[in-house]
Amino acid sequence: MKTITTHYIDGAFVQSHGREVMDIVKPTNGQIIGRVTLADEEDTRRAIAAAKRAFASFGRSTKEERAKILRRLHEAASAHLDDLTDAMVEEYGGIVQFAGLLVQSGIDAFLASEKALQELPLTRSLGKTTVTLEPVGVAGLITAWNANALFICLKLASAVAAGCTVVIKPSELSSIQTRVLVEALHEADLPKGLLNVVTGLGNVVGAELVRNPDVAKISFTGSVAVGETIMRDGAKTMKRVTLELGGKSPTILLDDAALDKAIPSALVMAFMNSGQACAAGTRLLVPKNRLEEVKQGIREAILAFAVGDPADPKTAVGPMVSQKQYERIQSYIRKGIEEGAEVLVGGEGHPEGFEAGCFVKPTVFVNVKNDMTIAQEEIFGPVLAVIAYGSEDEAIRIANDSKYGLHAAVLGTDLERARRVASQIRAGRVVINNMTDDPQAPWGGFKYSGVGREYGRYGMEAFLETRAILE
Ligand code: NAD
Repeated sequence: MKTITTHYIDGAFVQSHGREVMDIVKPTNGQIIGRVTLADEEDTRRAIAAAKRAFASFGRSTKEERAKILRRLHEAASAHLDDLTDAMVEEYGGIVQFAGLLVQSGIDAFLASEKALQELPLTRSLGKTTVTLEPVGVAGLITAWNANALFICLKLASAVAAGCTVVIKPSELSSIQTRVLVEALHEADLPKGLLNVVTGLGNVVGAELVRNPDVAKISFTGSVAVGETIMRDGAKTMKRVTLELGGKSPTILLDDAALDKAIPSALVMAFMNSGQACAAGTRLLVPKNRLEEVKQGIREAILAFAVGDPADPKTAVGPMVSQKQYERIQSYIRKGIEEGAEVLVGGEGHPEGFEAGCFVKPTVFVNVKNDMTIAQEEIFGPVLAVIAYGSEDEAIRIANDSKYGLHAAVLGTDLERARRVASQIRAGRVVINNMTDDPQAPWGGFKYSGVGREYGRYGMEAFLETRAILE
């Protein structure tokens, strides 16, 4: 049993002023594995004050000083890759293979930000005018539970590269993972007050960060509903905001796709992180003339997506993070059936033998119309909607007929054609043929998927202001 009663403020672990205690529940079996004392507004204000003091000097740091800190953060986090992965498997139920990749990608963010920092000129001359890129100030970083180490490292890396000091409010569902990470980052011997971490509820700690006038910027990853609140409430203190929100990402399978590769690839994108991924490709657009082949291909390929213990490397789909999330998925599966979609594989209830935890059946619906609830709303679980299309233009129209625009995929053998289709998708990222990543490529959404971008230079720019000095 892990008991967490402190927050990380001004370079030290300090006792919580907040008194509320929350159980930490293991999603594979519902057992209580820890207790965390949640922060209150006072803890949050102390953390903001520490970050403000630290900004007075860190805000004037040189590129080389920031680069050194980023390298130290990278080294400190790298030394704990396995601990961080284990914590993600234990507390969140992340499948071990994918959890390791997510953690590694968070660790890599420190070096990617260092590269962006080295390459981005912070001073430019326009005749007699000097333009400099200045850190925006104290940044509040608010994160979701589905990739804790990645979000914290990514946002912290960009903020540090820009010269900002931070107060992090991780999801309370990631308390153990956050503690393992903060203990690791503490070893980087950071300037006091640069990094502060207060774990608490969104409407307490998060809300204080959003309304506090000493916080200049909020970088948020989470739901649209909370993103809207942050934008509205942040306006009172003119907060700069980056919002990384939800998605309902289309995977367009073109009629020349090689199905033996395309179908497993589409399922990987749909079920990654057990379907609890903002970028999950949860709408599969299939040409009508290949629909029957695709259905058969899915029935066969799904056998490789074993549900099970997330610590077992053979498992492809682990539990949902919580009972609440389990029930949310069930309600969407019921809604899909009610609205007339047909369950091809999966369906309601627990998979056999997994009744004790928050496990759901990876589910694929066919006969889905794009205006059905399961094709429009983000489910955030392993539920895929197969939608048939006639022409390429219709596929593009359906792909873009969504309030979201975070991620998309195009699968096909003719690369020129795949690129042409990709260039017409209204989404922040489009991958061709496989889920792939580039730590310098921007990440973020069109429309309700958010505001602003993260990663590399784009992520760093989100923490900068421009100042011109004219002579
Ligand atoms: P959530 O919006 O419920 O919570 C996110 C964070 O916001 C948590 O730390 C929460 O405590 C905090 N919060 C809640 N109320 C708040 C308030 N009033 N003020 C300030 N902070 C508040 O989201 P979640 O359930 O943790 O995560 C799932 C959502 O995150 C999904 O919609 C998913 O698509 C999205 N997401 C987006 C990305 C991306 O990069 N675009 C990545 C991962 C997850």
